[in-house]
Amino acid sequence: MSSLHDIMEDKPAAAPNQLIDSFGRAHTYLRISVTDRCNLRCLYCMPHEGMEWKKRDQLLTYEEITRLATIFTDMGIRKIRLTGGEPMVRNGLPTLIKELGRIPKLETLAMTTNATLLATHAHDLKTLGLNALNISLDTFSKERFQAITRLDLFDQVLQGIHTAIDCQFDSLKLNMVVMSGINDDEIMDFADFAARHKINVRFIEYMPFKDNSWASDKVVTYKDMLSQIESRYELTRVEGDLSAVAKDYAITGGGSVSFITSMSESFCSTCNRLRLTADGSIKSCLFHPAEINLRDGMRQGASDQELQGMILYSLAQKPEAHPPAEEIAAMENRAMIEIGG
Ligand code: SAM
Ligand code: SF4
Repeated sequence: MSSLHDIMEDKPAAAPNQLIDSFGRAHTYLRISVTDRCNLRCLYCMPHEGMEWKKRDQLLTYEEITRLATIFTDMGIRKIRLTGGEPMVRNGLPTLIKELGRIPKLETLAMTTNATLLATHAHDLKTLGLNALNISLDTFSKERFQAITRLDLFDQVLQGIHTAIDCQFDSLKLNMVVMSGINDDEIMDFADFAARHKINVRFIEYMPFKDNSWASDKVVTYKDMLSQIESRYELTRVEGDLSAVAKDYAITGGGSVSFITSMSESFCSTCNRLRLTADGSIKSCLFHPAEINLRDGMRQGASDQELQGMILYSLAQKPEAHPPAEEIAAMENRAMIEIGG
């Protein structure tokens, strides 16, 4: 409904969000996977064996992604994150970023990357319209990096991170998946990095996916991480956006740390995100196997209105909350690399 102020100012009223699910959650955030391929092999993300890459014609084309992104923004999406696999390994990504950057209703265009290819492209991507970047790094040790990612690209990643810091994106975050006995002894090094470079470091609780070496005793809870960091830094809780998945803390002196507490304290009740996989399926919940494929509909000539109907159908299947971790670990779902983190 138009406010009196809007009528007086003769402004068009903002269209109501159509992406409201059965539990009253309005969805404004879409994560789009542009590829299931990656140039790293992180043990917590990609199964050790049996991964079959999608063929090129199974992936959404950039035109199809742009069409869907426009439909989603017409329905209420305001933030899109490109992810994968590794989004930067897909040819011609700058073209997609440029097209998405032109969608008028889109307020934030973000990307999550492993930074291996960032050093040479970060400046251009920012110029084309990318305004927020999350970079994944789980260790500052070159040897450990190779053990976790099964590739020797640590130096490129560090270079990519420093280039991204120089670029001054509106938002720059570093993601660390914390795993007990693997990299939890580096939590303070990452907090130091956040304080030194005045950026945000997000500590992510290790989540279970198909064949990803997860075990409940490898999860380090956010409360444990928080108390470690508080032993060195004065932290102040920052209450942000209600639908934010992270618990955010400012570090006195600069920088901030956040915790993604999917395992110890789920944030399902305020979830505002949808996912589109590289082969065109909507996933209304990361941990819910149900998918509705939009690619096939589009290729059979579905109209925008019919695609909207399929999106709403998928939203109606969204569960109120995800099951407990042990149950997730036992259920059939795609690997994280296939879904798009
Ligand atoms: N390749 C890009 C990257 O690594 O940043 C984007 C895709 S990756 C799947 C997206 C995010 O998911 C990364 O930050 C990664 O660390 C996180 N991730 C992958 N598997 C995870 C798991 N089992 N638990 C928690 N986070 C995970
Ligand atoms: Fe690749 Fe990112 Fe998964 Fe690592 S976390 S294997 S970089 S998609």
